[in-house]
Amino acid sequence: MSDALRTPFSGRAGAALKDAFLQEALKIATTKFIDLRKESFSGFPQGEALRDRARAIKEATLQHLDVHLERLADHVERLGGTVHWATTAEEARGIVLRLCRDRGVRTAVKSKSMATEEIDLNEALEHAGVTPIETDLGEYIIQLAHEKPSHIIAPAIHKTKGQVAELFSRELRGEFPADPEVLTAVARKALREKFLQADMGITGANFAVADTGTVVLVTNEGNGRMVTSLPRIHVALMGVEKVIPSMSDLVVFLAILARSATGQKLSSYTTLVRGPRRAGELEGPEEFHLVLLDNGRSRQIASTLREALYCLRCGACLNVCPVYRQIGGHAYGYTYPGPIGILLTAMLKGNASVRELAHASSLCGACKDVCPVRIDIPRMLVELRGHLDREKIAPWTERVVFKAFRRLLLSPTAFRLSATVGRWLQRPFVRQGRLRGLPLLFGRWTRTRDLPPVAARTFREQWKDLR
Ligand code: SF4
Repeated sequence: MSDALRTPFSGRAGAALKDAFLQEALKIATTKFIDLRKESFSGFPQGEALRDRARAIKEATLQHLDVHLERLADHVERLGGTVHWATTAEEARGIVLRLCRDRGVRTAVKSKSMATEEIDLNEALEHAGVTPIETDLGEYIIQLAHEKPSHIIAPAIHKTKGQVAELFSRELRGEFPADPEVLTAVARKALREKFLQADMGITGANFAVADTGTVVLVTNEGNGRMVTSLPRIHVALMGVEKVIPSMSDLVVFLAILARSATGQKLSSYTTLVRGPRRAGELEGPEEFHLVLLDNGRSRQIASTLREALYCLRCGACLNVCPVYRQIGGHAYGYTYPGPIGILLTAMLKGNASVRELAHASSLCGACKDVCPVRIDIPRMLVELRGHLDREKIAPWTERVVFKAFRRLLLSPTAFRLSATVGRWLQRPFVRQGRLRGLPLLFGRWTRTRDLPPVAARTFREQWKDLR
């Protein structure tokens, strides 16, 4: 169990709410991402049709995932690469560590990869005496701070520029101002020589094209290119769901991915990797290895979480989520935060791991609205809560309350009766036409806001409307 998980979710969330720096950083960054995305799609009328197309491609690919993966593996091997199949996180770590050991790797530079975070690769490398160096600026910041990413695309979103300046000044021994340009230049200088020293480059993959054996990296800093071309070995580690059939499908995804993530038409760098360096080529690694990671994904193809496998990891659902916007990523306690993170965590670690997190959503639907592949996250969260109940993972108090509530809603007589009682009970708390200062458990509802009282209309009328 990670240290973060020793504190219950309510404690982690409470601490996040009290952290003024975190609140400031989250508000600035998520609001900026939301505005950039909105602006980008508003000037892109074909965007909606492309989102439908992307969703259809993902769905069709999952129907024949095995076929696409075999084709991808064939093409990668024909290009001179080596493909490794990892059923579990442990197997994936073992593959990378074996490569390091057999080839005498001492230093590995990495570009941003949530898949490597998922399998705790950095810790495993360090334990084996290999120094991993993150080269994405956000990842570099959190590596220096000995933290985990708190956002899928912006790992250091929880830090203000002042905090980064302090961190750099301490860790890189200097006096650096809280100026993003200066801080970027400092990181760039520190990292430049690491690329040249490293024996291995480790990346994730945003997509892998089955028809051509192409691994695609989408980045904004150019570090992906250095990681894939300067070290003598390149290892790309990707979840099996990242495979797509063809280059024409890739065009669809590229058109909506960056718009959803950062509001850009395209990311600054789209790197297409096709095997190791070939005879006569001046650049590129001597060896290319592709690790295909399952880690529980394939068993979800027939489950209620299936749609979560469409995820492009753009982060848009995090930015708009009213829960994420308040508590940030670390409070979730696992690699993948936000509403999609709850589903991915359930997928990878089992339903019991999200006993509390399954409720960390208001089910407002904002995540579904912005998702480039229209993943119905709220529906899956409701279904997940149902599973927790049926599997008796949810606390018994919660199960009893919801069972009673269900019975009430299914019986018009019980519903009318309880409504009449509720209307009578609310009387002492209606002030100036609003419900205020509710007692006991209900107090949390009115601590920071007023509620409308039961309408003057009878419950019989309201019930008729509902039916
Ligand atoms: S669920 Fe959708 S919006 Fe959220 S990260 Fe995945 S692709 Fe992006």
